[in-house]
Amino acid sequence: MIKFLAASLSTLFFLTSCSEQEEVPSSSAASKSAPLSANAPSEFSGENAYAHVEALTSFGPRPPESDGYRKSLQYLEKELGQLGWKTQRQTFKGDTPTGPINFTNLLARYSPDQDPDWTTSVPYLLCSHLDTKRYPNIVFLGANDSGSSSGLLVELARVLQNHEGSAKSVELVFFDGEEAILENIRGRDGLYGSKFYAGQLNNRSNKPQLAIVLDIVGDKNIPLLIGSDSHENLKAHTTAAATTLGLSDKVVLYQTPITDDHVPLMARAQLPVLHLIGDFSQTTYWHTAKDTMDNLSPEALENTGKLTLQVLHQLTSN
Ligand SMILES: [Zn+2]
Repeated sequence: MIKFLAASLSTLFFLTSCSEQEEVPSSSAASKSAPLSANAPSEFSGENAYAHVEALTSFGPRPPESDGYRKSLQYLEKELGQLGWKTQRQTFKGDTPTGPINFTNLLARYSPDQDPDWTTSVPYLLCSHLDTKRYPNIVFLGANDSGSSSGLLVELARVLQNHEGSAKSVELVFFDGEEAILENIRGRDGLYGSKFYAGQLNNRSNKPQLAIVLDIVGDKNIPLLIGSDSHENLKAHTTAAATTLGLSDKVVLYQTPITDDHVPLMARAQLPVLHLIGDFSQTTYWHTAKDTMDNLSPEALENTGKLTLQVLHQLTSN
């Protein structure tokens, strides 16, 4: 992802129109889920999430079409499958500045007894990107960008399967090709997987109510930012959730737009989003060979995991 210091005019217009919506659900959206228990956040294990991130980084760099990416897909399919989640690969060919690339998003739904109906949506999307930025001259493992959020989603899947009604209201999405092929995300370079996925959502019979997009969430020494183009109602829920969990000093309402996978979900599928991202500008390792496990802590992963579950609890209890 890349931080835009100057918000574009179109983004400002979109922010304005978005913030006028008070209520998150829309009439065509998938219906509300069973309430998620107030106990669910306490069931999230940062140690478990950390172990998943460690496994993902052990496969090496994960740029699109790489051996590391294929192994990561297989790992997620196996882990999620054992927890009762059915997975589906969403493959497509994308045009990039260096030619066509085959991308693969991974979708998962909790449905232990039957195949999910992928032509309809469930209320909540929990999203991460899985790819790492391609660097020809360094070994870029992307422990925080994007191993942290991907490992975290697997642990969220474990907690949710203890709450069946809630698990069935969630779709997990692991995007390929978030990172640009050239230096920065701009124009048609970057966000490949989320653009394709958002377009495909429009082919379903209904849409999710909202999406939560996580990125760079494993470093306890940097604040977790609530992205500025998040829906106002979701910003309020997240701030309240952070207060409930005693995390107010670690969670910051951010004022500057950050381009990430939530943007196509807003622009192409008109979904309200919550974008949670660690303040990578405060690290010295972002997009370098030093984005390794030693920067991560189970505590940071646990904080973000609990926060996400607390937000889901609030959304389903109101
Ligand atoms: Zn990145």
